[in-house]
Amino acid sequence: MSQPTLDVLNPATAEVIAAVPAATAADADAAVTRAAAAQRSWAAAAPADRARLLRRFAVAVDEHLEELARLEVLEAGHTIGNARWEAGNVRDLLDYGAGGAERLLGRQIPVAGGIDFTILEPLGVVGVIAPWNFPMPIAAWGFAPALAAGNAVLLKPAETTPLTALRLAELALAAGLPEGLFQVLPGEGPVAGNALVGHSGVAKIVFTGSTRTGKHIMARCAEHVKRLTLELGGKSPNIVFADADVEAAAAAAPMSFLDNAGQDCCARTRILVERSVYDRFLDLLAPALAAVVVGDPADEKTQMGPLISAVQRERVRGLVDRGRGDGEVRAMVGTAPEGPGFWYPPTVLAGVSPTAPVAVEEVFGPVAVVLPFEDEADALRLADATDYGLSGSVWTRDVGRALRVSQGLRAGNLSVNSHSSVRYTTPFGGYKQSGLGRELGPDALAAFTETKNVFISTEA
Ligand code: NAD
Repeated sequence: MSQPTLDVLNPATAEVIAAVPAATAADADAAVTRAAAAQRSWAAAAPADRARLLRRFAVAVDEHLEELARLEVLEAGHTIGNARWEAGNVRDLLDYGAGGAERLLGRQIPVAGGIDFTILEPLGVVGVIAPWNFPMPIAAWGFAPALAAGNAVLLKPAETTPLTALRLAELALAAGLPEGLFQVLPGEGPVAGNALVGHSGVAKIVFTGSTRTGKHIMARCAEHVKRLTLELGGKSPNIVFADADVEAAAAAAPMSFLDNAGQDCCARTRILVERSVYDRFLDLLAPALAAVVVGDPADEKTQMGPLISAVQRERVRGLVDRGRGDGEVRAMVGTAPEGPGFWYPPTVLAGVSPTAPVAVEEVFGPVAVVLPFEDEADALRLADATDYGLSGSVWTRDVGRALRVSQGLRAGNLSVNSHSSVRYTTPFGGYKQSGLGRELGPDALAAFTETKNVFISTEA
């Protein structure tokens, strides 16, 4: 039987740019066997040697940063500025992980009658199932700390974006990482991804993607009590109080949900504005939205590119057209190129019901709603009125309010008077149905270990 392939499209032109062999369940099985063998020697190597090889991998990524960024523009339609940041993020994650390999510290715990200490041991083979919205960084959030902690990694990139992952695996080999330690399995989620989830030789799955697929994977992992980290959807609030610098809040609002054409789990797509400044905010937002440059992602001036695929554009269109509910809706629509490519214009809807599907479901496109609120308690109630809890922003000049609202919001990643992007040095993850576990930050490596406790009697 001939090997199935995945067609990779340029989302800005809808042209096929590559055909990649798709991994089957048998390929995944063979990869697990190779990875398990490589992992045993990797875990036995001196931590300093593991760190040295990961730093070499980071250098290789840095030396090929422009090539990787151009590949991301081509297969994912990301703006070139974003794509350079994304390749740099992979380099930084490898460096940060390398620093952790020699600092993966257990603890010595006071007990009676002996000495007690903990050891952090690698899990074994880790499966990373990545999405198409940030193909390079999100893959590296999993593979960099997992490798640093002494594991082998099998990376299953999204069907639409396998090219950067394959190139990263080549760079890892060229940098000296052992054969089999870091393998990429491009393929269909229900085939290659599913094979990793169900494989008894895979100790942990790190999944980023839709909440629906995440729930399915969680149920399957339960069959083996397999370790699992989930980074799922979001419907994050951007809360603007009347005492804020309203001009600054309105100027910053468009790119807080238009970055990556809104295909960002942290996108601030629910703009909640205190009623007394609601009309002024909308008047300031309209020109800021119209000024966003949408076009060729390879152009340095472009701020927003196309959506990833025709399917995704249909999902977005469906929610905007059919999910806004009844009532008087004011729509602000920016510009987007006509013709081939999966373009959708920046869109803001004011006046939709707070319970309309477009106001509570993840759109994953360049679409936000603006909803008025009455006071602090009302803002918190509205912010919490979704199944998600990933990110959020608070705009206020009142420090006490900033702290109270930050404490009151049920979401994992907040920023005050900014729309802070993700940092590899700080923890990231969701409350509620936005996820399970945390990635990045000082504890990133620990999430790829088991804690073993050892007691030694001093009385024998
Ligand atoms: P998805 O969840 O279906 O796919 C994400 C990854 O999971 C891909 O690599 C896919 O191949 C894999 N996968 C799919 N089914 C699988 C299975 N049964 N077993 C194992 N792996 C499987 O996401 P999608 O269809 O590409 O996007 C749909 C929606 O998901 C989007 O509209 C958006 O709302 C959301 N999404 C969120 C994020 C995020 O960062 N939170 C990322 C991508 C998509």
